[in-house]
Amino acid sequence: MIPALMPNYNRMDLAFDHGEGAWLVAADGRRFLDFGAGIATSSLGHGHPGLTSAIAGQAAKVIHVSNLYRVPEAERLAARLVEASFADSVFFCNSGAEANEALVKAFRRTMADDGKPERYRIICAEGAFHGRTLAMISATGNAKYLAGFGPKVDGFDHVPFNNLNALRAAITPETAGILVEPIQGEGGVRPADADYLRGLRAAADEFSLLLGFDEVQCGMGRTGKLFAHEWAGVMPDAVSTAKGIAGGFPLGALLASELVAKHLVPGSHGTTFGGSPLACAAGNAVLDVVLAPGFLDGVARLGARLRTGLDALVVRHKDVFAEARGRGLMLGLVCAVPNTEVQAACLAEGLLAVAAGENVLRIIPPLVIGDAEIGEALERLDGAARRCKPSALRNAAK
Ligand SMILES: *Cc1c(COP(=O)(O)O)cnc(C)c1O
Repeated sequence: MIPALMPNYNRMDLAFDHGEGAWLVAADGRRFLDFGAGIATSSLGHGHPGLTSAIAGQAAKVIHVSNLYRVPEAERLAARLVEASFADSVFFCNSGAEANEALVKAFRRTMADDGKPERYRIICAEGAFHGRTLAMISATGNAKYLAGFGPKVDGFDHVPFNNLNALRAAITPETAGILVEPIQGEGGVRPADADYLRGLRAAADEFSLLLGFDEVQCGMGRTGKLFAHEWAGVMPDAVSTAKGIAGGFPLGALLASELVAKHLVPGSHGTTFGGSPLACAAGNAVLDVVLAPGFLDGVARLGARLRTGLDALVVRHKDVFAEARGRGLMLGLVCAVPNTEVQAACLAEGLLAVAAGENVLRIIPPLVIGDAEIGEALERLDGAARRCKPSALRNAAK
């Protein structure tokens, strides 16, 4: 018989009772160092006092009022995001897929309002992940996510990632814009070259296209800048973000320049839940931490330390790890044995990490970890690597 909870996930047989900082505690008392952060989402770790008290305090006042009324918490969060980024205006929704939907709708609407309705197509990259709505599986372009769901939503073209010539060659009179992740997450922690991102801006300017970055995973401080595109010094027209923005409370956002944002006039787009007092209180509590002086520099420093440790693991365990890559606290180990084996070995060592494309194990801890957690994680990864030696696998198979 089918379980009451729909079986659309491959869940591990493991449930957590509570968390403390970078640690999750299972119902049976086992403690796990959480270097997956609920897929780069629990940016402040678990049980963070600032976040939990903001949520509890706001819930006691008012949870939801709808967008029929002003929402002061949303106005404040938007103003802070505008102040800290390229953006002039912010739309709040509830997930990464919705943020990308809003971005694509805003791009299409901008072109239509400018008298170019034939320009509705978006160029995306191979290996991308943009979410699971009907349009976003088409933007993602991965055959596995499209299978069985009928005709693809029209309007998305795919080119090899990090290849500017291929992207320029794909521009047609129907192209409205470009949407890429500055660091592909699900695709395997694949960073875009800074030159590539700058080349996208130049191509967008040359052909009067709009440039969008999907920072649902790499944004909100994960790389040591509020947004990963800042490392390349590129100004996008719009950025989608979600995952870490409210520390695990569902919240997504489309940040946009005025040029784009002004086209989402009343009635053009909306959401019932988006930008609620509760979600935005959580978002403001996260910004209190992430925008505190020195915090993002700390993420960059911790990321560099973790990366050095991962590079050393690659040298020590060439038969298990092929390469470390990524930036800040968005890191990945390209595995030389199946990444699911390494993930299972990490679990046995009490370390949570997340598999990704290209046989990568994602190392994406809460942003509030310290040097002690990094040392602990590196030790556990070393233990996991020992468990994964191909010879050990062979023996285990006997
Ligand atoms: C997770 C993710 C999404 C989808 O976010 P949901 O909240 O699951 O809809 C979109 N883009 C990127 C880059 C992501 O990592």
